[in-house]
Amino acid sequence: MGECVFCKIASGEIPAKLLYQDDEFVAFADINPQAPVHLLVIPRTHYANIVEAQKADASLGGRMLSVVTRLAEEQGLSGQGFRVVCNTGNNGGQTVGHLHFHVLGGRFMSWPPG
Ligand code: AMP
Ligand code: ZN
Repeated sequence: MGECVFCKIASGEIPAKLLYQDDEFVAFADINPQAPVHLLVIPRTHYANIVEAQKADASLGGRMLSVVTRLAEEQGLSGQGFRVVCNTGNNGGQTVGHLHFHVLGGRFMSWPPG
């Protein structure tokens, strides 16, 4: 936890372009955006991934999705659509071991992912 980059963003120890914060969650711009809008929503509590988080707090994901949809509307994404991604573990392509939802929008995104 001490070296976790997202814990450090949540605590303000390292800077990020914050878009939302409350007692439980923080949202900020992805440092390497893959779409015109690319933000990340994280819980302040460190969970390695969605599986660990849901075992500890079964309604956490739902509360996170409330933040996701609120931000998507604020960013003007809900009309044209957007994508929510939660990469999990090695096969999921997760590179930062602190639960996060990506919110991507502002362009068409193809399917399936690589
Ligand atoms: P994932 O591959 O799903 O674990 O996604 C991690 C995301 O975190 C990537 O899209 C990175 O660009 C992003 N990221 C890593 N470090 C930072 C940072 N300091 N500030 C903002 N986004 C970051
Ligand atoms: Zn963390």
